[in-house]
Amino acid sequence: MKLALIGFGQAGGKIVDEFLAYDSAIDNSFVEAAIAVNSATTDLQGLDRVPQKNRVLIGQARVKGHGVGADNELGAEVTEADIDEIQGAIDRIQVHEIDAFLIVSGMGGGTGSGGAPVLAQHLKRIYTEPVYGLGILPGTDEGGIYTLNAARSFKTFVHEVDNLLVFDNDAWRSAGESVGSGYDRINREIVERFGLLFAAGEVGHGDHVAESVVDSSEIINTLGNGNGNGISTIGYASEVVEPESDGLLSSFRSETEFDEGTATNRMTSLVRKATLGRLTLPADAASADRGLVVATGPPEHLNRKGVERGRQWLEDETGSMEIRGGDYPLPGEDEVGAIVLLSGVTDVPRIDQLQQVAIEAQETTENVRARAQDDFASLVDTGGELDALF
Ligand code: GDP
Repeated sequence: MKLALIGFGQAGGKIVDEFLAYDSAIDNSFVEAAIAVNSATTDLQGLDRVPQKNRVLIGQARVKGHGVGADNELGAEVTEADIDEIQGAIDRIQVHEIDAFLIVSGMGGGTGSGGAPVLAQHLKRIYTEPVYGLGILPGTDEGGIYTLNAARSFKTFVHEVDNLLVFDNDAWRSAGESVGSGYDRINREIVERFGLLFAAGEVGHGDHVAESVVDSSEIINTLGNGNGNGISTIGYASEVVEPESDGLLSSFRSETEFDEGTATNRMTSLVRKATLGRLTLPADAASADRGLVVATGPPEHLNRKGVERGRQWLEDETGSMEIRGGDYPLPGEDEVGAIVLLSGVTDVPRIDQLQQVAIEAQETTENVRARAQDDFASLVDTGGELDALF
């Protein structure tokens, strides 16, 4: 699936950088173009792989390259004001070559949190290609303002994109990790999952004798094309397999049924593990509206029955009739894996909690602001006994 990636804000830019590293190391490249947008000069300079000409600085007139802090309303404003700058970079993309846009942003900050939904709305107005979002939720320990920003950004972004893919930092952080090295590891986890999915849609049918290779249209149909397709989460599980058996074991194998049965059972349990294990956004799989199962790994370990069984299991689990399935053959790899894309999930406790904390944070902020105004008024008030100079 060919994508134009747009990283908005610091997290967005860093994750797009990581996507580029991943993309350059695989055969089925899915990144057609990569752009980074930010209001902070240093964040743009810190990127490694996004081409210089595709790094767009916005908000210079307002914030002079220093960023918007965690003010996402300002992030939205400067994006609107400088949308032509971003469009200038998008104009250099061969849009007819792409299957979709993907806007990546951390939702708890300022630039990406406020700007990503503005850009999504703009792209939807101009292009017919689907516009997807990849939104990163902040950790619960980041504090009220980040939670409030994320909740407001989420509410806005989800309506402007065809589908919002979500990754929750909170579910993926490890104790004792520094913030920097933590993000590096988390970014690799993000890219491994979403990258594998998008690359899966890029296997040419001539590449291998795969029985049912996943097509980009199947990813698009699962995510949806048209506003309001909700949010998605991804699960992934893998297992190391023996390399192509030309050793001792194979000489004892009289038929291929043994391999078939093993491969089928392995894939079925990987699909379960992927679905019931740690998702990019923890959610109840049963609430998914649509789903896609992708079997990855060396072609000799993939079979149609395995994907089919996994697909059927997910159909039962979700009660949805819209569960697609296919292969992503990776010759020479030593792992078999299952990617499960769950789309239109609605039972997501983390979002409920985020919204609850955000509402509380909003009330507290308003109360504090009102009290501060009162306190200030009483501080300078002398009951009419002193005259101001003018
Ligand atoms: P912006 O530059 O104003 O858009 O804000 P940032 O992108 O710096 O931060 C927004 C949020 O993104 C933070 O609250 C973090 O939750 C998250 N974040 C920042 N950097 C990273 C990163 O490298 N990886 C991940 N996964 N999340 C990040």
